[in-house]
Amino acid sequence: MTENKRKISILGSTGSIGTQALEVIDKIADKFEIIALTCGNNTDLLRKQCEKYKPKYVCSNDKNFKMNGIKTLHGDEGLEEICSDRENDIILVAVSGKIGLKPTLRAIDNGIDIALANKETLVMAGDIVMTKAREKGVKIIPVDSEHCAIHQCIKDIKYVNKLIITASGGPFLHKTIDEMNNATVEQALCHPRWNMGKKITIDSATLMNKGLEVIEAHHLFGINFDDIEVVVHPQSIVHSAIEYKDGSVIAQLGLPSMHIPIQYAITYPERFEGIKSKSFSFSEIARLDFEKPDFNKFPTLKLAYYAGKLGGSATVCMNAANEEAVFAFLNGKIHLGDIYKITSTMTKSHSVIKNPTIDEIFEIDKEIRIRTKELIINIDTM
Ligand code: MN
Repeated sequence: MTENKRKISILGSTGSIGTQALEVIDKIADKFEIIALTCGNNTDLLRKQCEKYKPKYVCSNDKNFKMNGIKTLHGDEGLEEICSDRENDIILVAVSGKIGLKPTLRAIDNGIDIALANKETLVMAGDIVMTKAREKGVKIIPVDSEHCAIHQCIKDIKYVNKLIITASGGPFLHKTIDEMNNATVEQALCHPRWNMGKKITIDSATLMNKGLEVIEAHHLFGINFDDIEVVVHPQSIVHSAIEYKDGSVIAQLGLPSMHIPIQYAITYPERFEGIKSKSFSFSEIARLDFEKPDFNKFPTLKLAYYAGKLGGSATVCMNAANEEAVFAFLNGKIHLGDIYKITSTMTKSHSVIKNPTIDEIFEIDKEIRIRTKELIINIDTM
């Protein structure tokens, strides 16, 4: 039976998605063999994971970290070496930030399927990544609950009229604009539905997360921005939907647990009971609410459509500026409301490069971050 095991590497195994992926694998352990586990700095947890799963490779940013009997790699080159090993059937890219991009491209070059949980890959280089994946016949299976839902709903892309992406609305859905813009870090980190990393939780509070998801959906499914709609759905039961040309709407529903989309992505196209904790009950849920997003209160969502439609390096700029602004907010340097001001100022003054190369993308990212930090220092004069 070992022949049938799916060989998987998890980039970012100590993070929120990575640890939940290992919980998923624990329940269907006979289906997987782990090739590599990697982390940034949480080597204490990485060591424990390696003792349990005994991967072929381990990789971290800590040059002094070593595990006996396991090939120990470091940094970006380490990730790329792992992604060059064709023994991998699938690689779960669960690192956060731009470090996910190059290893993902390397894996695609080697014909290895990708379970994608890293947003920057498509936001920064969606055209390059999807073109290469098509050329190589590589599957990109999204882990994010919304894209995973759409992936499950789409049978034939040519009959799709529009995508409908749901948003929980975050902690400020029914707060005033002033309450939101002056919220504390603690208030902004208190997400009503999902327990996630800090950066994505702040993005969920501003709805930038939804904006990034619209951009990702555009690349993943090849749908125009005007045919991607966002609807606020506070219960997070309907994870997204598609409308076909004939008016039929197919939605994917489930309890709000990341285990389900993670398991879908790493076991696709198979389905297992796995980690599912309880059966779905409409009567227990009782009601599902939907409302239009308030673009005045959440202007970052509008900005993401604007950058997405501009294309090229515009989304690279928006992403870099937003990330720097989010870090500044988390460090108490700016108000939550300043994130939009900073991100839109940077995005609207950016000279777009139409088809940037990977090197140009990283160059622009670096330059925008430097200029955004300067803008943050002078925020009071804005
Ligand atoms: Mn999501």
